[in-house]
Amino acid sequence: MEITNKPAERRYTIAVYPGSFDPVTNGHLDIIHRAAHVFDKLIVAVLNNTSKNPLFSVEERMELLRHATADLPNVEIDSFRDLLINYMKQKDAHLIVRGLRAVSDFEYELQMASTNRKLCEDIETFFMTSSPQFSYLSSSIVKEIARFQGPVGDLVPPVVEQALHEKYGEERSE
Ligand code: ADP
Repeated sequence: MEITNKPAERRYTIAVYPGSFDPVTNGHLDIIHRAAHVFDKLIVAVLNNTSKNPLFSVEERMELLRHATADLPNVEIDSFRDLLINYMKQKDAHLIVRGLRAVSDFEYELQMASTNRKLCEDIETFFMTSSPQFSYLSSSIVKEIARFQGPVGDLVPPVVEQALHEKYGEERSE
């Protein structure tokens, strides 16, 4: 590979932030805000993965994301079920954003990034480290707390807090 000092031509940057977002947390939102600042357009893409057993449907997860990112004009909410790189080609996007919390995230993320690079050389993965106050936070932890009526107001946006109350309220009355 030849390395030159020629500056790369600046092109309109479209990044995709893929994930389950079941549901979106303040940790995800921190990454979304920071990435929206760096890239021209950020597509938050909800993975429609039938093998997981999600609490919220894809439509519900997208709706919660839409509410929570309403103040960010260059953020678009979408979903995909295809291979990520195929979806990215459709969107003419070349950049993947992922968040890194602890070392435990690293091994899986490295494997995913290397695989995507192998499948499509033109795609780069950008890792953004979690802000320290969110480094422990995950959608699973939030669901676990909410399921037992614990307080999640500091962990998720108000619209998600409300949706969690409704979801677990419904489950109990079934
Ligand atoms: P996945 O099922 O793909 O891991 P998640 O919704 O759990 O989807 O996470 C999507 C992305 O957001 C991943 O890159 C994950 O590491 C990152 N992420 C999740 N929680 C946080 C957090 N608290 N701080 C920073 N990044 C996070």
